[in-house]
Amino acid sequence: MEKRVLLGMTTEELTEFVVNELGESKFRVGQIAQWLNRGADIDGMTNLSAALREKLKNAAVANPIRILESYKSKIDETEKFLYALPDDNVIEGVVMRYKYGDTLCVSTQVGCRMGCAFCASTLDGRVRNLTAAEILGQVIAVNAHVKKQDPERRVHNIVLMGSGEPFDNYDEVCAFLRKVNDPEGLNISLRNISVSTCGLVDKMRAFADEGLPVTLSLSLHAPNDAVRVNIMPVAKKYGMNEVLDACRYYVRKTGRRVVFEYALIKNVNCSVACADELAAKLRGLQCHVNLIPLNDVKERNLEAPSKQEVAAFLKRLTERNISATVRREMGADIDGACGQLRRKALADGRLQL
Ligand code: SAH
Repeated sequence: MEKRVLLGMTTEELTEFVVNELGESKFRVGQIAQWLNRGADIDGMTNLSAALREKLKNAAVANPIRILESYKSKIDETEKFLYALPDDNVIEGVVMRYKYGDTLCVSTQVGCRMGCAFCASTLDGRVRNLTAAEILGQVIAVNAHVKKQDPERRVHNIVLMGSGEPFDNYDEVCAFLRKVNDPEGLNISLRNISVSTCGLVDKMRAFADEGLPVTLSLSLHAPNDAVRVNIMPVAKKYGMNEVLDACRYYVRKTGRRVVFEYALIKNVNCSVACADELAAKLRGLQCHVNLIPLNDVKERNLEAPSKQEVAAFLKRLTERNISATVRREMGADIDGACGQLRRKALADGRLQL
């Protein structure tokens, strides 16, 4: 019999399960809910009797996310994960260790349907959305994993930059953000969370009105629509002016700057003329530009430019008074880029879709 998943059950569902199916007293429901909120496993629910924990374990799991495989970089301490979902789909994630704490990159969908030309996550399209519990479950599973390596370690920052388009799964993503920030739960500050979107304008505007003070990252990757349309199909639906207007709205509503992600791709978007055009477009917008030399994806015919070209692009933006940095590469030896690990595992036949 397939086990039930406790995390993500509503109070009514949990009550039905604990009281009606397991025949336990109602008092247990609150206790179990409290443990789940804090990310405990059934074994960790120490105010339940051993017998009840056994009973629970026979019928249920706490977390819908199970770490299937992990790969640790020998260069830095970056670690990648393949996770299994209850329906046997697989997703991936990566944790990066910084001086101030661990940053976890979470997935929001199995696959993605946005079709960006440089991205491995979208190659097989979208399989399904993740539930809020499945997004939260990634944080809980990695917390438990890193804690075993060092009891001081825990996820401190979260970036929604794994597989999937967060705003294509808007309601579950907002529910996750509220849940992970819950003082009774993991209590991770929204200021330590970044949500990255390819630019779904209507959802960006709705999100500005949610009152969730996270950092909004916008995957721009081009200085104009002509270049953007070539690499990001979403640009056919929402032009750059509309996207930048939505960014201005976000800044106005939240008082927070927007971060622009710009993957530098050889012969596509990294000339000095592109830097000039980008600087002109962003003038006056409270923002930071994150330059990412493209992670080569072997299925795509796109590559990163030379170090010199990257440096020239950065210099030009800086000269034009645009705040910009080049993202440090981490986990280069473990297929750090999004969607690569899952694809590799599927292609090797080690896992099935
Ligand atoms: N769908 C969301 C979030 C997931 S992707 C979005 O588009 O923002 C997270 C970031 O990684 C995005 O900026 C995306 O464009 C970028 N990215 C994807 N593939 C990449 C690659 N091969 N090299 C560099 N950046 C990549």
